[in-house]
Amino acid sequence: MLSEFDLIKQYFRRARTGHAVLGIGDDCALLAPTPGMQTAISTDLLIEGRHFFAGADPRMLGHKCLAVNLSDLAAMGAKPIGFTLALSLPGADPEWLEAFSNGMFALADEHDCELIGGDTTRGPLAICITVFGEIAPGHALRRDAARAGHDIWISGTLGDARLALAGYWKEVALDADDLALAAPRMHLPTPRVELGRALSVLPLAHAALDISDGLVGDLAHILDASKVGATLDVDALPAGPALAQQSLALRRRFTLAGGDDYELCFTAPAAQREAVIATAAGVGVPVTRVGRIEAEPGLRFVDAAGKPVEMDVQGWDHFSGE
Ligand code: ADP
Ligand code: MG
Repeated sequence: MLSEFDLIKQYFRRARTGHAVLGIGDDCALLAPTPGMQTAISTDLLIEGRHFFAGADPRMLGHKCLAVNLSDLAAMGAKPIGFTLALSLPGADPEWLEAFSNGMFALADEHDCELIGGDTTRGPLAICITVFGEIAPGHALRRDAARAGHDIWISGTLGDARLALAGYWKEVALDADDLALAAPRMHLPTPRVELGRALSVLPLAHAALDISDGLVGDLAHILDASKVGATLDVDALPAGPALAQQSLALRRRFTLAGGDDYELCFTAPAAQREAVIATAAGVGVPVTRVGRIEAEPGLRFVDAAGKPVEMDVQGWDHFSGE
């Protein structure tokens, strides 16, 4: 049986490559922030049976735990620096640990984000990552920065993660091909770090967040923080390739109130449409204009013809939703 310290050494302590002055092994890690930069910090806690299925594939789980955290840095426009990992494990299963750490480090290396410390304990499976990033003062893409007249933009596509979940739950009948198309969006989300950074460096986008609980619920956070309202074109919302083959009603529902999308929703002045498109093309991420910020509070929906439509959708809430 592996001891706690052997486990850390074997699976989580690696040759130093990153930005930290001191990494795993002491009571604290030491970071030396780039002079003049601000530090962006975010934490996400994932619990077996709530945020991921019991028995989830450990390699994909390692990817996803870090991806959801990097997605928060992306949503601020910050550059990833490092992260800590607090793990509660029912046991020290070498195969599980190997796959989990490989999945996590593959994504960490893609973003040059070093594991600098953590905590390991025995208990029900739960994974808590804290990420650290940096950003120039005044450049963070804050939720309170949307203004009336801004366009609302979405990166990538929405709804395929939710469609995969519906397939697993047998809420929607999906054939094996559709499920194979949708499932990676649920298990292996792509944090839009380069897009977030490109938007913040250019100060184009004004408000942004990452869509984790469904567009409607998450956009409401921008509207609340910025004290504005919005109209969304429900038929402009970019559905994922698997969802695009489903009915209009399902497409509208899962693009508006899916969950686990990890795309960016951001706002920018209409005068900067061309610049937004060029910036997104520069990092190879498609973006779609889906609506407009307005002075009148509340969220309204229109269809492709501009006709108002009623939509009964809600975001995911861990305390009221099940
Ligand atoms: P302490 O008891 O002082 O908190 P620990 O014995 O928990 O220290 O951890 C020893 C070292 O290993 C620390 O540097 C800690 O950051 C690191 N560490 C512990 N668990 C993990 C983990 N899951 N991933 C990365 N580093 C870890
Ligand atoms: Mg400790």
